Amino acid sequence: MSTPGLRVAVCVKQIPDPAAPGALDPATNTLKREGKLILDESDSYGVEMALQLVDAAGGGEVSLVSMAPNGETSGLRTALAMGAAKAVLVSDPELQGSDALTTAKVLAKAIERLDGPDLVIAATESTDGYTGTVPEQVAELLGRPSVTFAKHIEAADGMLKVQRQTEEGYDEVTCPLPAVVSVTAGVVEPRYPSFKGIMAAKSKPVDEVTAADLGVTPAGWAGAGQKIVDVAQAEARQAGEIVEDDGEGYAKVVAFLENLKVI
Ligand SMILES: Cc1cc2nc3c(=O)[nH]c(=O)nc-3n(C[C@H](O)[C@H](O)[C@H](O)COP(=O)(O)OP(=O)(O)OC[C@H]3O[C@@H](n4cnc5c(N)ncnc54)[C@H](O)[C@@H]3O)c2cc1C
Repeated sequence: MSTPGLRVAVCVKQIPDPAAPGALDPATNTLKREGKLILDESDSYGVEMALQLVDAAGGGEVSLVSMAPNGETSGLRTALAMGAAKAVLVSDPELQGSDALTTAKVLAKAIERLDGPDLVIAATESTDGYTGTVPEQVAELLGRPSVTFAKHIEAADGMLKVQRQTEEGYDEVTCPLPAVVSVTAGVVEPRYPSFKGIMAAKSKPVDEVTAADLGVTPAGWAGAGQKIVDVAQAEARQAGEIVEDDGEGYAKVVAFLENLKVI
C-alpha cells in the first residue's frame, strides 16, 4: 500500500570530507573515495526542503537514493537522522568509472524502486564533481518535468509551484507532479539531527542494491562518455590594489567598480 500524503525522494551524494585534503587517483584524475564519505552539504538543503514539504502536506514520507562505493552509509545516516524515513543505496564495484550519465541512469532506476514518489529533489550541483547535469538527466530518464535552481517549492493538489532563481530575481514556474527539481544551495536552513534522530537513524531501512538488481549494465571506465583529461591547480589570486584614502579614495573605488561594469 502506498504512503498517503506527499512522497519525496531526495538524491543525496556521499562525498569525501571537503575539510580533509583530497587525493586524486593519478590514473583517472578522479577523486579517491576509499575513506569515510559524508553527506554533501549541497544535498542537506534538498533533505531539509523535502522534510518541510512533507510537513506542509500534513503527511507523507522522505526517501533517499544514493550511489556510493564500499557500501557507504555515513552520509545517508546523517540525512536519516534529520528525518528521512528510508534509503536506497546503490553500491557495486562494477559501477567504478561511472560518469554523470551512468550515475543518472542508476539513480533513476533506484527511484523507480521506491513507492512512486510525487517529487524528486536533487541539488543544483554537487560539491565534489559539480557538473550540474545529473538532476536533468534523471528527469529525462524518468520522463518527468524538470525544474532547476529552485529557491522555494510548494506542492499541492498534484501541482508544483517553484520560485526559480535567475540573475535578476526569480521566475515562478508551475508544473504537474510527479516532477524533478534541483534546489540551489543555501535556500533553507538544514536542521541539525537531534540525539533522538541520530539514534532512530541507526535502525531505519537502507535497501542496498547492485547494478544487476536495478537492471543497469555498468559501463565502467571504458564506457564513460566523459573523461577527465587533466587537473590543474587553481591560479593563485593576484594581490589586490590598495587604495589609500586621502579623502578622495571613494572616487577611485567607484572608478574601479565602473570599470568592472558592476555599477
Ligand atoms: C570518467 C568518470 C569516472 C568516474 N568514476 C567514478 C568512480 O569510480 N567512483 C565514484 O564514486 N565516482 C566516479 N565519478 C564521479 C561520479 O560519477 C559523479 O558522481 C557523477 O559523474 C555525478 O557528477 P556530479 O557530482 O558532477 O553531479 P552533479 O550533476 O553536479 O550533481 C547534482 C546533484 O545530483 C545528485 N547526485 C549526483 N551524483 C549522485 C550520487 N552518486 N548519488 C546520489 N545523488 C547524486 C545530487 O543531488 C547532486 O547534488 C566519475 C566521473 C567521471 C567523469
